[in-house]
Amino acid sequence: MSDDLQSGKVGEVITRFPPEPNGYLHIGHAKSICLNFELADEFKGKTNLRFDDTNPVKEDTEFVEAIQEDVRWLGFEWDDLRFASDYFEELYDRAVLLIKKGKAYVDDLTAEQMREMRGTLTQPGQNSPHRDRSVDENLDLFARMRAGEFKDGERVLRAKIDMASPNINLRDPALYRIAHAHHHRTGDAWKIYPMYDYAHPISDAIEGVTHSVCTLEFEDHRPLYDWVIEECEMSAKPRQYEFARLNVTNTIMSKRYLKMLVDKGVVESWDDPRMPTISGLRRKGFTPEALRAFCREIGVARAYSVVDERMLEFFIREDLKLKAPRTMAVLDPLKVVITNYPEGQTELLDAENNSENEAMGIRQIPFSREIYIERDDFMENPPSKYFRLFPGNEVRLKNAYFIKCEDVVKDADGNVTELRCTYDPETKSGTGFTGRKVKGTIHWVEASQAVPAEFRLFEPLLLDDEADGDKEFLDRINPNSLTTLQGFVEPNMKDAKGQDKFQFFRHGYFNVDPKHATPERIVFNRIVSLKSSFDPKA
Ligand code: ATP
Ligand code: MG
Repeated sequence: MSDDLQSGKVGEVITRFPPEPNGYLHIGHAKSICLNFELADEFKGKTNLRFDDTNPVKEDTEFVEAIQEDVRWLGFEWDDLRFASDYFEELYDRAVLLIKKGKAYVDDLTAEQMREMRGTLTQPGQNSPHRDRSVDENLDLFARMRAGEFKDGERVLRAKIDMASPNINLRDPALYRIAHAHHHRTGDAWKIYPMYDYAHPISDAIEGVTHSVCTLEFEDHRPLYDWVIEECEMSAKPRQYEFARLNVTNTIMSKRYLKMLVDKGVVESWDDPRMPTISGLRRKGFTPEALRAFCREIGVARAYSVVDERMLEFFIREDLKLKAPRTMAVLDPLKVVITNYPEGQTELLDAENNSENEAMGIRQIPFSREIYIERDDFMENPPSKYFRLFPGNEVRLKNAYFIKCEDVVKDADGNVTELRCTYDPETKSGTGFTGRKVKGTIHWVEASQAVPAEFRLFEPLLLDDEADGDKEFLDRINPNSLTTLQGFVEPNMKDAKGQDKFQFFRHGYFNVDPKHATPERIVFNRIVSLKSSFDPKA
């Protein structure tokens, strides 16, 4: 592409991002958005957002609005907001022009018959018996199609190209179909709608698009794209360029399937944090910076590839590492009473907000006789090499003291309900205590001031069963894609707002869910755990 620009073939660069408003955008669209906007930016050009709204049955203004929000959130602002439906009148006129030139005709064959006569990769197609209708008859029939005289599917307008072309896309493709459907913008004005392969090149040309970037499946459509531009006598000559569609392991990347998940109630909504939609990733806690860095990394390679989902995680960790405050959260609490700590006393301890970014400063956290620790940081009968709490063992409480487990309290069923520990005042964090060492450090939250919180942990929506490819889509849904835990966070987080992000010591990065938080309880979505063995730079 940049060859054309450097050689001066194209003066100005105009690109467009052309979503169909039939669902929410997903991470694959993010790649296309970044590509189109960044290509134009590089050459100080323009990018339009154009809704390809030529299929009224599936489209809706809800999607139009959500798509705009997502593009803006990713950090891009379009030059013009357009709709293919803005061009319906011109599209119609150009089709009339094709008819007059003998380059298009109305066909009465059924879809089934047309399919049968289209031929195969090795066999040419056959001409339709209606292919040689007179111009006048075609003009009359096309006008009557527009007027709504025929039922859906009764007739189509087809380009008259070559039924023997080795490229099946050129075997008299349909340009218009009849659809008595309500359109979200043009209402009931139209009874016929243009096909993608016809509307797209003309819309590009009307907008003066120079680089019409699309995914590789459209490579074989390029001759048709060029034919439409030429035969419709468009003065601008946009060119189509193809790039590889983004695929991510374990990730559904098709609106049809994503819609099924929403419609069947498998997920809560299009922006459910488990969804690979831009709005789902946002709600999970991804940042625009991380998504853009990811898209840049995967690049514009034409080769088909499946990107490892851990690469996406790598970029969000990188982005949040120095930005997110590091605090303590107990996801599955077990109460600990520190029996030698004075009753009624509370002290404030210093804690770094980000050990890798000093500029984030220090906060104070309360400590007192009762705290919560993580239930799985205690084992009554631990295996060897277990360095956390067990009867008689001593551990370090992050930012606080060493405590030693003295006694275990159980309920009638034998479940551990509380630990009784002692602390050693000499071991206070930050005082340089070197008297003895312990092997385990665990996190905690002071009990009386702890803020109740819900934690949502996610697994992929799809079970990884590539070996079992024939399974029905809905049977591949992971029943454990969501785990919900009730625990506590530090008191200074009580004012956390939707979309605030934190690193919880040992647990990973979390985002405050903007939809479900209530004054009594904050809901956190886990964005990503702390560690991965994956490094795309390695
Ligand atoms: P889906 O099959 O998920 O519905 P689509 O291609 O039909 O996707 P559109 O709304 O028509 O969705 O796409 C808008 C733009 O986004 C197109 O230019 C398309 O090429 C691009 N796009 C869609 N999916 C991907 C993907 N996985 N990777 C890269 N670009 C994509
Ligand atoms: Mg589409």
